[in-house]
Amino acid sequence: MSTDGHVVVIGAGQAGVQTAEALRTLGFAGAITLLGNETHPPYHRPPLSKAWLAGEMDAAQLLMRSPEVLARKNITLRTGVSVAAIDRAEQTVSLGNGETLAYTGLVLATGSTPRQLNLPGADAQGVFALRSRDDASGIANQMARCVEQQLGVVVIGGGFIGLEVAATARKKGLSVTVLEAAPRLLGRVLAPVLSDWYAALHRSHGVHLELGAAVAALEVNANGAVSGVRLADGRVVPAGLVVVGIGVSANDQLAAAAGLACERGIVVDACTRTADPHIVAAGDCTARRLADGTLLRLESVQNATEQGKSAAAALMGQDRPFTATPWFWSDQYDKKLQMAGLSTGADTWAVRGDMGTDSPTSSFTVFHFRGTTLLAADSVNAAKDHLAVRKLLDAGISPTPAQAEDPAFNLANLLSV
Ligand SMILES: Cc1cc2nc3c(=O)[nH]c(=O)nc-3n(C[C@H](O)[C@H](O)[C@H](O)COP(=O)(O)OP(=O)(O)OC[C@H]3O[C@@H](n4cnc5c(N)ncnc54)[C@H](O)[C@@H]3O)c2cc1C
Repeated sequence: MSTDGHVVVIGAGQAGVQTAEALRTLGFAGAITLLGNETHPPYHRPPLSKAWLAGEMDAAQLLMRSPEVLARKNITLRTGVSVAAIDRAEQTVSLGNGETLAYTGLVLATGSTPRQLNLPGADAQGVFALRSRDDASGIANQMARCVEQQLGVVVIGGGFIGLEVAATARKKGLSVTVLEAAPRLLGRVLAPVLSDWYAALHRSHGVHLELGAAVAALEVNANGAVSGVRLADGRVVPAGLVVVGIGVSANDQLAAAAGLACERGIVVDACTRTADPHIVAAGDCTARRLADGTLLRLESVQNATEQGKSAAAALMGQDRPFTATPWFWSDQYDKKLQMAGLSTGADTWAVRGDMGTDSPTSSFTVFHFRGTTLLAADSVNAAKDHLAVRKLLDAGISPTPAQAEDPAFNLANLLSV
């Protein structure tokens, strides 16, 4: 693509903003229109289950980019605008209000949507998923009501978002039950040793945790508000607030309707290209085709940011593959988890540090190996280990399990060998 023309970005979240700004950094001089269907200017999503929900952050801190900052970069932000369809032959997008915009380059950065709980009562008042700032405000208001009226909170789903909400609710003094269908917490993303550690952590903070829980229905009172969660064995857990955190699905419907390949997300290469030379896709809405043919779906700030940079480069005709080690973080109570790499396929692990759950000073890293190769490491309150491991994984260097376990062994030294 030349340095002029009109790039339309669908989705004013992490990936959309990053792509728009990276285009300017790379010297794109044409028009950029950033379309977002939310009414708020771009904001950071991670605090919605953490500091924002806890009331420890104000709107200015949540803001990712103000309209003024974007305008200074000559990026036109339009909020409250939904794209209804893409016409690839005409190179246009049609908006929900009937308007049509022509593009020379199109960025799909539509994010993802929380999975719905298909059970009776799931649409009652007081039942929330958490994706947007408006969802978080609804949950915060309902938490305040629960504090006043001494009602409990039930979280359905023991993934990161559900557990962060549980930790925040405990901080507010609420009684919290977490119901997880699987036999362990965070089973999709963490090794069993860490699932057990998180279960112990939440229980030590007073969370009532049920693993292998089968939810049958949500109980609804005469006012249409949720009053509890009924389990398959007939027990009812009373609740004034239910937060459902059972995963997300990629927003790939626009792309699929336009005939682009989608498989649990918009299929892109390492440079975020789709099969259409004018269209790239970045962030939660994508599934990246790896060299071995498999697809990788990541839902993280790093993925959205890096793919956003790659998308801008691709529109400028440059190859910028995103192949760096994936990383992620989660804050629960006073524990910061930082994950580097993907532990799927690991067969052994080694632990450095103290895994005590109740000590505020405990700090440790779990290293995951396949044979002698380091695949990933999950650090809790151990930022130095996390940073060293990211560099080691990027460089393809593995410590031995004995070196990994030895707190006196300086991991960073391996980088200079
Ligand atoms: C509560 C919460 C906590 C999280 N915590 C962490 C964390 O600790 N660490 C971490 O790495 N990641 C975390 N994440 C994940 C991270 O926020 C996402 O991976 C990241 O925001 C993805 O960015 P994105 O741009 O792909 O999607 P989004 O940020 O979701 O942006 C997509 C935007 O596109 C809009 N859109 C969709 N369809 C259309 C359309 N047709 N027309 C116009 N606009 C449209 C959406 O409404 C949305 O505003 C968290 C997410 C949530 C919800």
